[in-house]
Amino acid sequence: MGKWVYTFGDGTAEGDASQRNLLGGKGANLAEMASLGLPVPPGMTITTEVCTYFYEHEQSYPPELEAEVNAALDQIAASTGRTFGDPKLPLLVSVRSGARISMPGMMDTVLNLGLNDETVLALAENAGDDRFAYDSYRRFIQMYGDVVMGVEHKSFEDKLEAMKEERGVDLDTDLSADDWKVLIEDYKAVVLAESGKPFPQDPKDQLWGAIGAVFGSWRTERAVVYRRLHQIPERWGTAVNVQAMVFGNMGETSATGVAFTRNPSTGENQLYGEFLINAQGEDVVAGIRTPQDITERARIEAGSDKPSLERSLPDAFAQFKDVCDTLERHYRDVQDLEFTIERGKLWMLQTRSGKRTAKAALKIAVDMVDEGLITEAEAIKRIEPASLDQLLHPMIDPSAKPDQFAKALPASPGAASGEVCFTSAEAERLAASGRPCVLCRIETSPEDIAGMHAADGIFTTRGGMTSHAAVVARGMGKPCVSGAGGVKIDYAKGTITAGGVTLKKGDKITIDGGTGEVFVGEVPMLKPELSGDFERLMGWADAKRRMKVRTNADTPHDAKTAREFGAEGIGLCRTEHMFFDPERIMPMREMILADDTASRRAALDKLLPMQREDFTQLFEVMAGLPVTIRLLDPPLHEFIPHTDKEIEEVAKALGADPEKLKNRASALAEFNPMLGHRGVRLAITYPEIAEMQSRAIFEAAIAAAQKTGAPVVPEVMVPLVGLKSELEFVKKRIDATARAVSEETGQTFTYQVGTMVELPRAALNADKIAEEAEFFSFGTNDLTQTTFGISRDDAGVFLGSYLKESIIDVDPFVSLDTEGVGELIKIGAEKGRQVRPDIKLGICGEHGGDPNSIKFCETVNLDYVSCSPFRVPIARLAAAQAALG
Ligand code: ADP
Ligand code: MG
Ligand code: MG
Repeated sequence: MGKWVYTFGDGTAEGDASQRNLLGGKGANLAEMASLGLPVPPGMTITTEVCTYFYEHEQSYPPELEAEVNAALDQIAASTGRTFGDPKLPLLVSVRSGARISMPGMMDTVLNLGLNDETVLALAENAGDDRFAYDSYRRFIQMYGDVVMGVEHKSFEDKLEAMKEERGVDLDTDLSADDWKVLIEDYKAVVLAESGKPFPQDPKDQLWGAIGAVFGSWRTERAVVYRRLHQIPERWGTAVNVQAMVFGNMGETSATGVAFTRNPSTGENQLYGEFLINAQGEDVVAGIRTPQDITERARIEAGSDKPSLERSLPDAFAQFKDVCDTLERHYRDVQDLEFTIERGKLWMLQTRSGKRTAKAALKIAVDMVDEGLITEAEAIKRIEPASLDQLLHPMIDPSAKPDQFAKALPASPGAASGEVCFTSAEAERLAASGRPCVLCRIETSPEDIAGMHAADGIFTTRGGMTSHAAVVARGMGKPCVSGAGGVKIDYAKGTITAGGVTLKKGDKITIDGGTGEVFVGEVPMLKPELSGDFERLMGWADAKRRMKVRTNADTPHDAKTAREFGAEGIGLCRTEHMFFDPERIMPMREMILADDTASRRAALDKLLPMQREDFTQLFEVMAGLPVTIRLLDPPLHEFIPHTDKEIEEVAKALGADPEKLKNRASALAEFNPMLGHRGVRLAITYPEIAEMQSRAIFEAAIAAAQKTGAPVVPEVMVPLVGLKSELEFVKKRIDATARAVSEETGQTFTYQVGTMVELPRAALNADKIAEEAEFFSFGTNDLTQTTFGISRDDAGVFLGSYLKESIIDVDPFVSLDTEGVGELIKIGAEKGRQVRPDIKLGICGEHGGDPNSIKFCETVNLDYVSCSPFRVPIARLAAAQAALG
């Protein structure tokens, strides 16, 4: 029999921050804050185990729960001097959901619970403020009706709008107590009409209704989708927090707000946040009124004429600043805070580690090392490797002179161009067909998450820096511009209008989330600057990692980019890409379609100088760093001409009969090219291809070494080997070619011959293959295909269902299947080392840039990972994290 309820408040708590699995993130941190002696309204956390119980017992509760909740309510009553349901001194509470990690899609918070026609009178009298009491009551009916009873939010909004219109006012705060009284009756009628039930008057019924709604919300479509997107297990469950209310809507000395202890966008060490006077709950993030800045400094920077908290409530501000310092020092990380001020007194309602942009994360980590708050190793661990992507991506070219469409809040940095679209579904559709898009919304809500994911950028006309759109976009690392007040979106017409310019759905737009600017059309972009904090942190990471990071690059341009990003060599240069060039495809086709060795050699002779030049340039860029070059790998039919005209051209060049050529071309067609005549099999049937390629490699190595002065040690890699004898056959030719080149040029050079391990047979026989191979590169794209027996190109149809049905957790082509493919790598690495202890081992599939796969590579002691140029920094950081354990 468990303990189901944990209380907190008055300087103590039954739980603490380490219990987030049991208490949820919100509950655990409320407990921790209470224990730290911070002003937290007393309350209780009903544990996530109750959620599990609830779903395992046909949505019922453990029998002891009611008594435990009542006991906790008594404790809150003792602390506040108010009693739940009491007609004279009623205790009001909030009911808040809280999973282990904060999760949009869960039930919204219900505030002011415990109010009814009777207790509202007492609330008014105790506070000496009718307006406040009725404002709270109407909020309660609205929230409870919406989130617990399923009444449409809009039905209430419509009544409110009608009332404001009737009274001729703009703001909720301009309505009087009497207006609210009228509206409350309207609201009750709405509830009855839409839900078929009267609004519950018994506070206990209200409480259990809200608790049930929180647990029920764990399984809503929205929540399920979110969990799937973020790989959160279904079994975690949510906790429920029931907490004494404090009121930010008790007049001009009351307020509610949200803040970050440092700027979450830039990382600057400045308290940063927004608040509203005489407001409650989510008014600040809902964007109903424009929030005010917390600090005077931020107010001045924003050019706002609305007073800062620092000026308007200086005592509360000073208390708040102290709390921020305490919490940041305690958690040793930036905190994202929610607070309320009730008649000048500060109350803390939430703290959690603040979501931040990659740029901010870097600055904060580096600053905190300088401040002595964290170590270099901790700083490294705190950066999500994949988030570096945000920094490596383009910015708007400052020399461009684009047409400004609008300017609003810089909600999440980075620039993005794409088609204007207005719905989440549209964004998903466009993204699926590879068309960049910018999701334009009046505001966003949790239903838009999938679309925000799919879009390249997000643009909203409502909401501040802490609006849903802004917070979620920053979390996702998506560029976002928000709060463009002057811009009108017409969903029905599919248009967005600003300053007399109207853009339609499908028109191109560019947003700059770093400046808040929005431009018409596509704007030229520039590569980012990789100095400062980035350089320092990457320097620490480089010092801590064991594995080297190489790049997959086929061109000097890619190689150069990768070196700028810190690549320490090329792990995979695919030579076939070099043959698709229009001026090269002809001799390539001649070579393939030649029906005797002599004409094949003639065609290869034309290709030799081109390959040599490619490799020379590549070696020059890499200036002595290791370069692995893979011999021709793909099925030859990928190069063959298809149209009659193309065939005739080749026939002419070869001096051959077009008919005969056509036959030869169709003879090359294969049922299953992926498992066909490719890889080492090409080198066995046409050794002269391997000979030409190795000659080009060696001659280029000599040429580049002479030019740069740095000796080049090329690594010649034979693909798709399954048998030692295959490699032996090819290696003999490569060695002979090396000897020939050496004799012809009078130059000596060193080189290595190795293989890609991409067939299960190769991994299982790695000991034998290692007798020939001086290095292995695990080609995990093919190894995944051949281990699963799944063709990657055909997998899209069914892998989606596998993911949806939780048959697999992640796409094995994205993140290495450590159990299966990983096991083969492990065997391959061990067997290879048994025979050749100094064998060089690396990985060159797409997995080489995936942090989880990199973690695995560390556990099997690979020497390096190789990934695409833009992922090199990610791999450097991930390798450091892997080494730190
Ligand atoms: P979310 O997880 O969506 O942030 P919260 O449970 O934090 O939801 O509640 C949202 C807001 O409701 C809080 O930021 C705070 O302003 C208000 N709120 C919650 N509980 C209380 C309370 N006990 N007293 C006053 N306001 C509260
Ligand atoms: Mg919420
Ligand atoms: Mg909150």
